[in-house]
Amino acid sequence: MTNPTDRVLSRAERQAMPVALGVAVEIAKHNGVCIRPVILRRLDTHTGTTEDVNVPCGTTMEAKCPPCAKRNRYLRMAQCREGWHLDAEPSITPDEPTEEQRWLVEFRADTQAQRDAAEKAGDDTTDLDAVLAGLDEEINAAGMRGNLLGRTTAKRNRSTRRRQDAPDLPKRVRQNTTLGRTFTSSDGKAYRPSLFITLTLPSYGKIRAGQGVPVDPDTYDYPRAARDALHFSKLVDRFVQNLRRVAGYDVQYFSSVEPQKRLAPHLHMAVRGTMPRAEIKAIAAATYHQVWWPSVDEVRFEGEHLPVWTERPEHAEPYPDGQDGDYLDPATGELLPTWREALDRLDADEDAEPLHVVRFGPQVDVQGVLSGTPDADQCIRYLSKYLTKSLGDTLDADNPAQRAHTARMTEALRYEPCSPACPNWLRYGVQPKNAKADMAPGRCRGKAHKPEHLGYAGRRVLVSRKWSNKTLSEHKRDRRTWVLEALGLANEPVDPHRYVWKPVPAGDGDIPSLALRLLRMVAERQRWRATLLALQEQAIGQPVQDLSAMRGAA
Ligand SMILES: [Zn+2]
Ligand SMILES: [Zn+2]
Repeated sequence: MTNPTDRVLSRAERQAMPVALGVAVEIAKHNGVCIRPVILRRLDTHTGTTEDVNVPCGTTMEAKCPPCAKRNRYLRMAQCREGWHLDAEPSITPDEPTEEQRWLVEFRADTQAQRDAAEKAGDDTTDLDAVLAGLDEEINAAGMRGNLLGRTTAKRNRSTRRRQDAPDLPKRVRQNTTLGRTFTSSDGKAYRPSLFITLTLPSYGKIRAGQGVPVDPDTYDYPRAARDALHFSKLVDRFVQNLRRVAGYDVQYFSSVEPQKRLAPHLHMAVRGTMPRAEIKAIAAATYHQVWWPSVDEVRFEGEHLPVWTERPEHAEPYPDGQDGDYLDPATGELLPTWREALDRLDADEDAEPLHVVRFGPQVDVQGVLSGTPDADQCIRYLSKYLTKSLGDTLDADNPAQRAHTARMTEALRYEPCSPACPNWLRYGVQPKNAKADMAPGRCRGKAHKPEHLGYAGRRVLVSRKWSNKTLSEHKRDRRTWVLEALGLANEPVDPHRYVWKPVPAGDGDIPSLALRLLRMVAERQRWRATLLALQEQAIGQPVQDLSAMRGAA
């Protein structure tokens, strides 16, 4: 092979010379290798040996480094295709935890330990937090329901006036199926039509065509845009509830949340089965979500005048709200209401209004799609188009108007509470949920406030439980099995207790530089790919050009 990257690689390996990280990263990207691998120490309990293993950052499902994001995108496309036009009910049975699930849980525990150690040492935990969030997502995708921490909170009783789950829509008697109807044409052919829906948030002001920036930034409704983005995922949940109620069957969907140029999230949704277009539009129009959080109309603390933390007296039992202190107004000494107290007041106040009501905009696009048509493939590509990008990534950094637009949006999110635990509640005179010392408004580290997320911190891909017969992990395994078979290797089940995974202690002198680790992963990948290529050529008796489609396998 005369690939120039090979020469760089072999020289690096031969002489073990330090390689510029930038070069290694480019080579890794070119080869579809993870550029942010997490290193883990694996103890083989059968042999007693340990080995440091590079785990791709994309082991977690969120788009991470570009090569992992790309690989995940291919997996998502496979998953989407698999479930869209199913003609038999998927069989979903809760299984015993598989080896992979067990591995994930152990990996999560280890990562948590690593994160806590980093926090203790005063290091930045942003990356590890992201890995943890992704792991939780994958653990759920692997079929384990519920929160790992097992925390459940009692549902609050809200007066019926505030119930929001019954919009004025037709209801069909619910049938116990996840499949759509089949139509038979006059020549006896059966059709199984499905839907592709696009939902968008409302307008916040006129937008310059093609550029996605406001015509008049001063009148553009940034506060509303910020809140809509923060609560968008709840709105989507409501839409699905309403869709199922009206459809009269257990509607299944595969959807992705994507950024628009104007920096608002919008949703593409592949739906199994069909309904009249007008009905989908009526459901979107009737769907809303009320945010029952304390009011943020009045700024009570800002600048130098901020609430002060005070420890609670020592107590034999932990305090029921889990706090060991409170914030008080330094001017009056008055304790601020805790999160729970603030919600109780809100519930008791019959005249209270929700903090925010989020709805979709009038632009609802509904397309009928038939399985196996180019249209269906087009939609699947479209659904996964932006999965490798963050919301803020659509921005053209060279365009000053777009930069200004992002800056304004980020500013609008700065003091907006992103969750019950957001430190911004202090600004409005309420203690955040599970308040602790050293919180300050405007300094929330939640994802939603960051310019790359712009208010939407939720999952990018939302897939209903009975979409296909397979979880994403199973799709992954499919590919792996296929490759192993092609290589003539046995895909033997491994003893689930064989390996023990541990984080590698920080400052361990034995860890090679990231550059060297990347190059080793590339070398492995190239060896593997060359073998596969040779096998393919043997099989078909002529040279094979393109292996890119198989990149997702390893
Ligand atoms: Zn990666
Ligand atoms: Zn926040």
